[in-house]
Amino acid sequence: MIPHSRPTLSEEEVREVVRVMRSGHIAQGQEVEAFENEFAGFLGTPGAVAVSSGTAALHLSLLALGMGPGRQVALPSYVCSALLNAVKLAGAEPLIIDIDPQTFNIDPDDLNRRLTARTAAIIVPHMFGLPAALDQAVGTGLPVIEDCAQAVGATYRGLPVGSVGDLSVFSFYATKMLATGEGGLVSSTLPALLDKVRDLREYDRKAEYTLRFNYKMTDLQAAMGRVQLRKLGFFLGRRLEIARTYDTAVNKTSLEPPASKEDRTHVYYRYVVRCAGDAGSIIGGLSTMGVIGARPVYKPLHDYLGLGGFTATDDAWRRAVSLPIYPSLSPEDAQTISEALLAVA
Ligand SMILES: *Cc1c(COP(=O)(O)O)cnc(C)c1O
Repeated sequence: MIPHSRPTLSEEEVREVVRVMRSGHIAQGQEVEAFENEFAGFLGTPGAVAVSSGTAALHLSLLALGMGPGRQVALPSYVCSALLNAVKLAGAEPLIIDIDPQTFNIDPDDLNRRLTARTAAIIVPHMFGLPAALDQAVGTGLPVIEDCAQAVGATYRGLPVGSVGDLSVFSFYATKMLATGEGGLVSSTLPALLDKVRDLREYDRKAEYTLRFNYKMTDLQAAMGRVQLRKLGFFLGRRLEIARTYDTAVNKTSLEPPASKEDRTHVYYRYVVRCAGDAGSIIGGLSTMGVIGARPVYKPLHDYLGLGGFTATDDAWRRAVSLPIYPSLSPEDAQTISEALLAVA
């Protein structure tokens, strides 16, 4: 079977992790600092703070913006539950928003419709690698957290995602664009917010007690992350090549290809097509041909919360299928997947 996702690692990561182990300093130290500086350099932001996960990055970003009881945080329904967890961890109330049916990203019109006097921040994920309509979220005047967990290397109007929002978060979970096993990062154009995140990340050696966390990244992870960041250009190129292979096949079927927009680049963290009917039959068909397809979101947030009125999200959940795409997928496997698509759709 061709797996749905897989990290792309080489001897270089192995060498670097071993080098750090031999150095005797394996917790947060100079590797983490170097990774933060290199990542901020790549984004063009004044700094970055590495943390233990994307969830931790979201949690600390919400706290840095002062989110807590009595405040509402807007976020789209068609995402993983990590975003909802972060809002709850901060003690804030989630305000669930429907998605744009073409892009799978937060729908700015639905956002404007649902905003209340208590809404105090917006989380904008760039789903599956295609940047969301950031200008419209920023136009509300509320602080924006860009969730770039799926979109490292994508650009919006010529700027890298993660350089526009008040704060931006990344995840380096094993199968994300860049992998450190588990890991995350917060970037910001505002140094005061970064200082706040850095302070909350660790509890030791503080003059005064307030609630703080242990959300540190280790030097072992950062050593991997530094190698992965250097390979980003190659990773993006491979993902794009595979996407073009799938485009050719998809255009000969009844499936709808992923959306594209002139003012932004898609990095194809996921290659998501939309079926005419239920995704289940295509996923089943692919599996009989040795290809693992998946619904790209396990369960929308409004379903977890028992809410109705999210028709675009319901439709995406019913009809969207994600195909295997990662830099280590061979051209032969990409061809096999294309042929399987032609046979089942
Ligand atoms: C993976 C992911 C997260 C959570 O990251 P973890 O590192 O698993 O905590 C948050 N947001 C989005 C969009 C993600 O894809």
